[in-house]
Amino acid sequence: MKVLKFGGSSVANTENIKQVLSIVAKTSKDSKVAVIVSAFGKTTNNLIAGANEALIDITAAKEILGAIKELHFNVIDDLVIKNKKEVHKEVTYLFDRLQSIYEGVFLLQELSDKTLAIVCSFGERLSSYIIANAAKENLDVTHKESRDLISTNNEHLNAQVNFKITNKNIASFFEENKHQITLLGGFISSNIDKETTTLGRGGSDFSASIYAAALDADELQIWTDVSGMYTANPRVVKQAYPISEISYEEAMELSHFGAKVLYPPTIQPALRKEIAIRIKNTFDPESAGTLICKNPENGNEVKGISHIEDVSLITLEGGGMIGIPGFSKRLFETLSVAKINVVFITQASSEHSICVGVYEDDAVKAKELLDETFSIEIEKKKIKPIIVEKELAILAVVGESMKNYQGLSGQMFSALGRNNVNVRAIAQGSSEKNISAVINKYDAKKALNILHEQFFEERTKQLNLFVTGVGNVGERFLAQLQQQKEFLKENLKLNIRVIGIANSRKMAFNDDGIDLNNWKEALENGEPTTLDSFHQKVKESNHRNSVFVDNTANQQVSEIYEKYLRESISVVTCNKIACASSFDNYKTLKQVSRKYNASFLFETNVGAGLPIIDTLKNLINSGDRVQKIQAVLSGSLNFVFNNFNENSTFHDVVAAAQKEGYTEPDPKIDLSGVDVARKILILARESGHQLELEDIANNAFLPEDSLNTYNNDDFYASLTKNEAHFQNIFKEANDKDCRLKYVAEFVDGKANVGLQHIPSDHPFYNLEGSDNIVLFFTDRYPENPLIIKGAGAGADVTASGIFADVIRIANQ
Ligand code: ADP
Ligand code: ASP
Ligand code: MG
Repeated sequence: MKVLKFGGSSVANTENIKQVLSIVAKTSKDSKVAVIVSAFGKTTNNLIAGANEALIDITAAKEILGAIKELHFNVIDDLVIKNKKEVHKEVTYLFDRLQSIYEGVFLLQELSDKTLAIVCSFGERLSSYIIANAAKENLDVTHKESRDLISTNNEHLNAQVNFKITNKNIASFFEENKHQITLLGGFISSNIDKETTTLGRGGSDFSASIYAAALDADELQIWTDVSGMYTANPRVVKQAYPISEISYEEAMELSHFGAKVLYPPTIQPALRKEIAIRIKNTFDPESAGTLICKNPENGNEVKGISHIEDVSLITLEGGGMIGIPGFSKRLFETLSVAKINVVFITQASSEHSICVGVYEDDAVKAKELLDETFSIEIEKKKIKPIIVEKELAILAVVGESMKNYQGLSGQMFSALGRNNVNVRAIAQGSSEKNISAVINKYDAKKALNILHEQFFEERTKQLNLFVTGVGNVGERFLAQLQQQKEFLKENLKLNIRVIGIANSRKMAFNDDGIDLNNWKEALENGEPTTLDSFHQKVKESNHRNSVFVDNTANQQVSEIYEKYLRESISVVTCNKIACASSFDNYKTLKQVSRKYNASFLFETNVGAGLPIIDTLKNLINSGDRVQKIQAVLSGSLNFVFNNFNENSTFHDVVAAAQKEGYTEPDPKIDLSGVDVARKILILARESGHQLELEDIANNAFLPEDSLNTYNNDDFYASLTKNEAHFQNIFKEANDKDCRLKYVAEFVDGKANVGLQHIPSDHPFYNLEGSDNIVLFFTDRYPENPLIIKGAGAGADVTASGIFADVIRIANQ
């Protein structure tokens, strides 16, 4: 004998039921089968909604009923031929009864648990009867009413099974029953007085297990809409995959902590008889599914992660509890009498507080009852009034062999901590099958994905980017990312996704990653943006391993880094403003980055893609000390003075530099030397010196009236006006056989920048195009400096520098 159970979605409509019938036909070829079915689709929910509506508005209730009726008659019309007339008649009768019950609810203005159980029972009564008649078209089938077999106590909506009576009923019915296939409704049962009861929401799984145990079945198959019990809820964790084998205890823990695929009480009856449970996908019958059994094959030490949302923590706290027995007994007794389910327990070892997790729906009642129970102690201030914290979720990491491995809970909590998930309470069963943590509900999805990555996906790491600024540099960055995506996945096991992008007008988000071939379109169709709304969206999307990438040169954007870092979101930026702002601000950003474990990287602030800052960091971290830095750090100024001579005009050369993407959007920032001053400032700070921008001597070569312009047009006009001045500068150098280089120097704690005449024997003399060069004189490189040289400006190299920072974060 095999017992097969099909859940709501497996019998949601004609197509699905056909699929069910084909599975049943196949299985019944070489075995007798008992088939347990749920109500069609969401019928139970709809029946309950209708009953609640009947309390208020009978017309609306009848409308809900009408839709339920239509679904059922459609299935009959599609699938029942031989007994159509009879089935029509019976089903019409059942719907008339249901309507009368709704009318009764409306008239009496009362919906008791007893009535609601009757209402709910119609779902499975109808589904099992209709499917049995559809199966009768070509199979040997009988239908049996489960309420005649499963006997329970009087708790109408969550009844406890009397196994003695139930097992006897089932055994004697099946002894007489000669049909190959028996169709039964799940979920429904009756008490000793033949009143209808139900086994609790999701209870059809349990019914199937009861039948399997009573019949000593060879196997219990739970057919549903996913291919087994997954490593985590597949609707929340995209990377989750089916667990091939799992023990009864592990499956029980996972289902207790929210893996809805199996109703928690289901395991017990099957376990008692050691009947294997197989979870299978109705819509993909060939896939293996999950086998729940006594001795599963060795798998991962962590088998799965589950979670329950909508949990509240109830805390009983106060010095008056210490050393006095009985507090926890009274606490649990109060909750148990009120039938409030406790999902989670921790007690501080000082006995100063006890903390339990309950479903949010029960929290208010629990507080009222407990305040009442402990009213005397509260009044005498021995304990505090009961504390309730809402909007929480419980995560549970489950696996029987976890106890044989050290450091799993360390891994769990440090992964959560790294990603800024605040843990409110922790419990670890002494059997060590389960470590559970209470966190904010808001963080649940992120936390599940973090833990899934930690325990099941060590091989691929996901990085989630939020990119602001899609001008020259941003666009190249996205193109490089797109081009390199597959390579990174394959070779570095790194999956980089762009979740959000923004320019100054619009923003677009996609939680699964924006298609980088079409990001422009996505952005065009996006919502209007502000810095705050973008930040808000990043925060709400609450992804793990998040990185904010700033490709702008905008002051306001640079002012928001701290907010990101405080949320453990790393920041990568080519924007120099933050690192060149006040030393206090620079220091704060560095401190916040350390404290919240979020990287703050800005390699492109100096020398675009050249590894200048990274090299300097490595020198300092390994104990070297900077004595002097000499550098040509402006790709734009280098380009300008390499191309400017008596045959060109200064205006045209600057315009060409801007066109090539070698200047800041505002070229005056380059030409005035401010940009170079910022760069040497950053290098000085990274070398460990406390300096401000004002401390840097800037020997500007621009005439006053060029410096005093406030837009690009005026600036360019002033260049034309002062052409003679620039020609003069050129001539002075040229007459001495020197070249003009804008040099930055840092020596003895002091920095300066300015135009210098460079003779032909100097390392700077032959610097081409937009190249940069940096000479680090350090304790370890005192005479022959460490030299870094190469293209120091341009969108492509800057983008690749940003890319390198992103990869640095991934490698941490
Ligand atoms: P049925 O109607 O067949 O009883 P349920 O909706 O009760 O199906 O259970 C199946 C659902 O359980 C899946 O669609 C999935 O959303 C959810 N689920 C939660 N956790 C898990 C898990 N760990 N593995 C598989 N499914 C899970
Ligand atoms: N139909 C019932 C419910 O929706 C039982 C079940 O499907 O397991 O709760
Ligand atoms: Mg279910």
